[in-house]
Amino acid sequence: MALITRRVTPTVKIGQVLVGSGHPVVVQSMTNTDTADPASTIAQVRQLVAAGSELVRVTVNNEEAAQAVPAIVEGLAQAGVQVPIVGDFHYNGHLLLTKYPEAAKALAKYRINPGNVGGKRKDEHFGAIIAVALRHDKPVRIGVNWGSLDQQLLTEMMDANARLTEPRDTRDVTMDAMVESALQSAALAEETGLAHDRIVLSAKVSGVQDLVEVYRRLARRSDYPLHLGLTEAGMGAKGIIASTAGLSILLQEGIGDTIRVSLTPRPGGDRTEEVQVAQQVLQSLGLRSFTPQVSACPGCGRTTSTFFQEMAQDIETHLKARMAAWRERYSGVETLRVAVMGCVVNGPGESKHADIGISLPGTFEEPKAPVYVDGRLKVTLKGDAIVTDFLAILEEYVENRYGASPPVPLSAMRSGGTADKLVPG
Ligand code: SF4
Repeated sequence: MALITRRVTPTVKIGQVLVGSGHPVVVQSMTNTDTADPASTIAQVRQLVAAGSELVRVTVNNEEAAQAVPAIVEGLAQAGVQVPIVGDFHYNGHLLLTKYPEAAKALAKYRINPGNVGGKRKDEHFGAIIAVALRHDKPVRIGVNWGSLDQQLLTEMMDANARLTEPRDTRDVTMDAMVESALQSAALAEETGLAHDRIVLSAKVSGVQDLVEVYRRLARRSDYPLHLGLTEAGMGAKGIIASTAGLSILLQEGIGDTIRVSLTPRPGGDRTEEVQVAQQVLQSLGLRSFTPQVSACPGCGRTTSTFFQEMAQDIETHLKARMAAWRERYSGVETLRVAVMGCVVNGPGESKHADIGISLPGTFEEPKAPVYVDGRLKVTLKGDAIVTDFLAILEEYVENRYGASPPVPLSAMRSGGTADKLVPG
């Protein structure tokens, strides 16, 4: 798989999920429902988990939210959903976690933002949260955020910088202040008694270059597992691309043990998109496999019809529809690679590189579509049922390659095609 050497970290156990360099990079997400409303929060957690989220964070922003946490965790368990629920705390975490021990017990991890645990009494409040974590044997994430950076620390570091003969620029000092905030808080947590392998760090910013820089510094200065994410990534393509760019650079360098893609959904939009993007980032880098991948050419003037676009879409739809059943039955099917190509220029070559591929006829080409399986020409399809025939071959391939049971003959799998449309290759 990947030619990536992970930065070595301890393993942090969050519920039953292991985070660290000895384990696959974990995909996580966060709800945007009102935590005080258990029904809607449970429903969204279930959607996120069904999409593949392995940890789910909920905000615990007030007493009602803290009171709802046990019901959320219990409701998920009753529904058979076993996912660690992480509590996100700002300003009043020390109060809520102390006042609501059932919430503290139900959560699998606490996220603490050292920039807003409490002004002059921040060490005291921070210590109170760590004391709860120790009492309930929970890990914490110390999550620094550029938008809520510890102002006292930043001011001290800016003042010290100003006294230098050659002061560094503000961005440089701010990056260091984020790293310092995370590391000083982690040191304080350990001094208070939290074990080294109960701490995850993050330092989120909203710019890609800043993200890369701050995580590189953090990675150099500690061995804690790192939670990666571009904060306030934004909406749609911008958010997806900016997150992908930042996370990919770091993951390629072996930095990052769990990721979250912070997309702003459109009103009424699909919250699970952030999970799909996170999975796709990891799969594109070859770090993990979640679902079969379809390579399709972009099309050009050599293929003027929309047939191959429709076929690529049909195959994607088929793979999505079949994955739930395939996952149960075919171990490793998520590594499958399928190619759908528009003409003879790159079609046969790309199809041969895939596990199974089809090269459709371009405009003015002979109306036939060679199918390649494991790099070899298997058959050439013709006629009106090319899509159906290809899907039948795909099903047969999956059964033969990933199934424990004896292979199903192609003739038994075909539905809609006829023998004269299959021309031996
Ligand atoms: S494979 Fe053919 S149709 Fe597809 S982009 Fe290349 S030249 Fe164009």
